[in-house]
Amino acid sequence: MSARLIDGNALSTSIRGQLAERAAVLKAKGVTPCLAVILVGEDPASQVYVRNKVNACEKIGMPSLQDVYPVDVDPAVVFARIAALNADPAVHGILVQLPLPKHFDATAVLAAIAPDKDVDGFHAENVGSLMQGKSRFIPCTPYGIMKMLASEGVRIAGAEAVVVGRSNIVGKPMAMLLLAQNATVTICHSQTIDLAFHTRRADILVAAIGRERMITGDMIKRGATVIDVGMNRYSSGPKQGKLCGDVDFDTAREVAGLITPVPGGVGPMTITMLLANTLESAERALQ
Ligand code: NDP
Repeated sequence: MSARLIDGNALSTSIRGQLAERAAVLKAKGVTPCLAVILVGEDPASQVYVRNKVNACEKIGMPSLQDVYPVDVDPAVVFARIAALNADPAVHGILVQLPLPKHFDATAVLAAIAPDKDVDGFHAENVGSLMQGKSRFIPCTPYGIMKMLASEGVRIAGAEAVVVGRSNIVGKPMAMLLLAQNATVTICHSQTIDLAFHTRRADILVAAIGRERMITGDMIKRGATVIDVGMNRYSSGPKQGKLCGDVDFDTAREVAGLITPVPGGVGPMTITMLLANTLESAERALQ
């Protein structure tokens, strides 16, 4: 058996089309949704992420602001800029690209963003709302994954869901969203004893680890839905340097029922849901 692919590019294109229509409706009512992105330093991966986000905004007719600061910038400068963006009614979403340089307190930076413009959903107030099942902004990667599961009609209620990874941006919110839809959720991490014991029970398996092809076919239940969040590079072999996930795609697809590829799976959905959150924020501002 070979698993069916969940095509994140195709789903993204379809959702972005709907978002462009909603952006046009807002504009006709005099509100232009706008995302402000702050980048500190010259980390090449962060530069690519920011460029992709800004380009995606443009493509759906949504302007964006970009502030790029040198790596040694005084944090006070960035805090002052966030305060100005918080107060600017023309800005509906504010995103600070992570990771920040070591002399920044990232938690304090995220806390400085107005919760009603925190389109990444990382502010403690928004995290708390998510825990209570009343989310204002759902973190983009788990939000995109829930859309993928819904688009494929994957049954969540009653399913055994296993999330490998417990980061604040992916693993934990992912687990909360699956729980809110009545899955029985297990969260695994680096201290988990016998990871395969857990992953083999999963009807829905989400891998958000950051380890090249760690989840192999023998760790997957036959027919499971496998979501690969990882963005790693092959460290050796003919594909060295090319993008790969946390799941060993070739062995996993022989066992899984549904699987996301890397690239072309979760990645495009993450950016799409950032656009969705910004648009939702602008729609709320109009109300
Ligand atoms: P983090 O490094 O913050 O978290 C990784 C998690 O994996 C941690 O909870 C860690 O456990 C766990 N882990 C590490 N090693 C093991 C192991 N051997 N067994 C079980 N668990 C383990 O990463 P992120 O959550 O930020 O990202 C995860 C991956 O997803 C990365 O590859 C990242 O690039 C990618 N990513 C992709 C996105 C997309 O849009 N496609 C968006 C965001 C991230 P512990 O807590 O114990 O250390």
